[in-house]
Amino acid sequence: MSFDRVPGNSQIKEILRAALRRKHVLPSLLFCGVEGAGQRETALELAKAFNCLNLEDDACDVCSSCKAVDAGNHPDVIDVKRLPGKPGKNESDDNDDEFNEEQQEDDKTSDSGSPLLRRIPGVVYVNQMRAASDLAFKRPMIGRKRIFLIDDAMDMRGSIDSAVSAALKILEEPPDFAQFLLITANPDLLLPTILSRCRMLTFGAVGADDIAAALRGRGEDEARAAVIASIVRGDYHRALTEDWDAYFENRRDAWDWYRAILSGTNGTEFVRKLTGGRKPVSRDEADSILTFFRGFGRDLLVLGETGRSDGLFNPDLEAELRELAAALDPDRTLGLIRAVDSASAALEANANVRLMTSVLFARMTG
Ligand SMILES: [Zn+2]
Repeated sequence: MSFDRVPGNSQIKEILRAALRRKHVLPSLLFCGVEGAGQRETALELAKAFNCLNLEDDACDVCSSCKAVDAGNHPDVIDVKRLPGKPGKNESDDNDDEFNEEQQEDDKTSDSGSPLLRRIPGVVYVNQMRAASDLAFKRPMIGRKRIFLIDDAMDMRGSIDSAVSAALKILEEPPDFAQFLLITANPDLLLPTILSRCRMLTFGAVGADDIAAALRGRGEDEARAAVIASIVRGDYHRALTEDWDAYFENRRDAWDWYRAILSGTNGTEFVRKLTGGRKPVSRDEADSILTFFRGFGRDLLVLGETGRSDGLFNPDLEAELRELAAALDPDRTLGLIRAVDSASAALEANANVRLMTSVLFARMTG
């Protein structure tokens, strides 16, 4: 996938292309801005372009180097979080890798073993940053440039000061053949010492039309591409990574329940499903059902109040939503939205699913 196939943010892509053409050594780059706006995808295209065997300022997608990056097995494109180096003495399961000895040594001396550091998902640990720094001074194995991807970079913050200081020097003066690419949704949370060493490129939200076109380019069916593009609201990364078959199936179930509750027919089926029956739902499942319910409520309100269909959360359900909206008065719709919002709040405050469901059901039918 060349730069052009990542939707939106054409200015940023042009800056990168121009730098590649002029063979400028780029400083360490920090991609930030709207979450999911193609930062990771652009970083991977840049990694490909740096090492492409056919093109200078883009990725050709067909050479062995581009294909290896796409397949996630190019030896010079390194996801720093995947390097060994979790804290904790019992976590060095990666016995067959080249960093293992060093890691065990580090584990004895560094900030390892802290239960707080042990299980934070996505954190960049000091050992990983040190491994990356060491690797950065070794020449690339097969490519022109070794790329280090740090996503999400905000995890190099405060509490892991030693990871940060290990990072500073290499971010400031990487060798010509190393390129660091950092991604974060929250540059404000990065230490100023990191910010000042990187060139920041801020991504804007990607328009629904651009996302739909990109999805079609990747083989998605036209109608479905349009629906997904409107559901993700600018989050291209989500458009690529969500399991959409499961999403549409789950949403269909939620929509059937929602209507059943409101029509007074079979609404108790919903309560049974959520609270016990044969297989009770988990908190996460309950939360995702409530998220669907929230989207239905918002759509009903928009259709009921304005009759307009642009900006619906569920554009493909428009006909069914309209039918229901016509049968509800606006106060009732507002009441439904409030009922779902307070059920979400209760779930977040750790209320049990059974109680939350009963209250929600009573409020939606009442
Ligand atoms: Zn190529």
